[in-house]
Amino acid sequence: QHLSQLSSQARLHQPQPTEQARRRQSLENTVLTGIAQGRCALFFQPQLDIRDKRLIGAEGLLRWRHEDGSYSLPADFITDAEQNGVMVPLGNWVLEASCKVLASWRQRGITLPLAVNISAKQLQETNLLPHLKLLMERYQVRPSQLMLEITETARIDELDKSLSLLRQLRELGVLVALDDFGMGYASLSFLNRLRTLPVDLLKIDRSFIESLPEDPVMLRIVSAIARVLELPVIAEGIENQAQLDFLLSQDICWGQGYLFAEPLPQTEFEQRFLSNLPVNAAESKN
Ligand code: C2E
Ligand code: MG
Ligand code: MG
Ligand code: MG
Repeated sequence: QHLSQLSSQARLHQPQPTEQARRRQSLENTVLTGIAQGRCALFFQPQLDIRDKRLIGAEGLLRWRHEDGSYSLPADFITDAEQNGVMVPLGNWVLEASCKVLASWRQRGITLPLAVNISAKQLQETNLLPHLKLLMERYQVRPSQLMLEITETARIDELDKSLSLLRQLRELGVLVALDDFGMGYASLSFLNRLRTLPVDLLKIDRSFIESLPEDPVMLRIVSAIARVLELPVIAEGIENQAQLDFLLSQDICWGQGYLFAEPLPQTEFEQRFLSNLPVNAAESKN
């Protein structure tokens, strides 16, 4: 599936290989008009302390809403967007939407951290830091409430190029997580580089949780690496009690997954997870 299928208008054009430029142009139009028409939506998946099910944060996940009310998942359009120069405007929409959400939570006295996925394309784009600064100022976002998830499968040499940007982001006070940890360059030389990578958290890739409890070896390896590097971890994709029990037996204490909740539309997430949160009275006065 491709981005060209996101709008019925674009569907009329059958792209020819020779029409690469035109296709790119039409995708750009589709995405930019779509953003303006409110086709982008952020869904929210809770992140919990799996020992007591206490809410510790949320991950924002991008969806593309069709006219009929159905949604496309990122797997259907992110790669295409990255290859056709529209990931940056999409990512900017996500950043602004995230800052708006944090502002509205804060007005209600809720200071829950929000994790946002950042594409390697956004890291390569030099405008990210000033843009984020501007948004955080405009929406009065506390930097420590924003966690940027960069994916390990972004090529390591690209990640190397982004090192100083990541450092600057962290100087702002924004947190950085390495997403899909264990899937990319788990060579010893990568691990050596990981020691100097400015990240605050490792997100253990879902594939290592999927094989639990029958095959725990990879999970053990990955969590041992995290321990040596003295980095906290969060387990992604927890779907059942047996997986949860195994993670607890390994002293892993943060997680997210369908066992607790799927990514939810904002209002549903707020109703299910924020309505009985203790409100910080001092916060809500600001
Ligand atoms: P990710 O950041 O690793 O996000 C986790 C994915 O696993 C999400 O898929 C989530 O819905 C799914 N998931 C969560 N719990 C479970 C579970 O228990 N079982 C299973 N089977 N899956 C679970 P989603 O939302 O389709 O996103 C897929 C990927 O697309 C994300 O992987 C992320 O890399 C990318 N993505 C999502 N939103 C954005 C965005 O705003 N910007 C960028 N650049 N990438 C995004
Ligand atoms: Mg993520
Ligand atoms: Mg990812
Ligand atoms: Mg992941």
